[in-house]
Amino acid sequence: MEELLALPFNDLLYHAQTVHRAHHAPNDVQLSTLLSIKTGGCPEDCAYCPQAARYHTGVANEEIVELPTVVAAAQVAKDAGASRFCMGAAWRGPKDRDLVPVLEMVRAVKSLGLETCCTLGMLRDGQAEALKDAGLDYYNHNLDTAPEFYGEIITTREYQDRLDTLERVRSAGGKVVMAPRADMLDGNLAVIADREGGVLGIVNWVDEPPGGAR
Ligand code: SF4
Repeated sequence: MEELLALPFNDLLYHAQTVHRAHHAPNDVQLSTLLSIKTGGCPEDCAYCPQAARYHTGVANEEIVELPTVVAAAQVAKDAGASRFCMGAAWRGPKDRDLVPVLEMVRAVKSLGLETCCTLGMLRDGQAEALKDAGLDYYNHNLDTAPEFYGEIITTREYQDRLDTLERVRSAGGKVVMAPRADMLDGNLAVIADREGGVLGIVNWVDEPPGGAR
């Protein structure tokens, strides 16, 4: 691993492209569309997020979106070329009664022939299974930042809480999508690592890293 990190940047890019092209069509990109099905009013305190109620950013605390609105948005996404539709809610995690309408949304979007994805916050026992049974293909659950910085970015939950939800999704047979960790190196270079610290790539941020990346 250290040998890999010591390589000149363009050599790293070359290696990354070699692996990518061995497994994927080089210029194909999957199109996905995300709809916020419940915006604002979140009780969490993620330092990068305008949907946290405590930051008074002017983002309204909206009701959950009605099913026909979701289906219409998914159809528009499909017609525009998307093959995956993601539904996101500004919750710490869904209560079981919150999940009922989401399960209907997942079934409806799946019936349109789209892959389904949700990001709803932390899941309790049984919820990942319910989502999977409804037809959920992917669960998006970000790790936010490295464990050693976690308390500087979020105080209302712990890093382990995120890992627990990821494990619940995997145990239910679901696939996870997560923004990997980005640890800053000198200047604008950042190492993108998975949760075990395995290096996924190295990027050169042109400007500032995305919100929350440390
Ligand atoms: S849990 Fe999600 S919606 Fe809530 S404050 Fe954090 S990033 Fe924002």
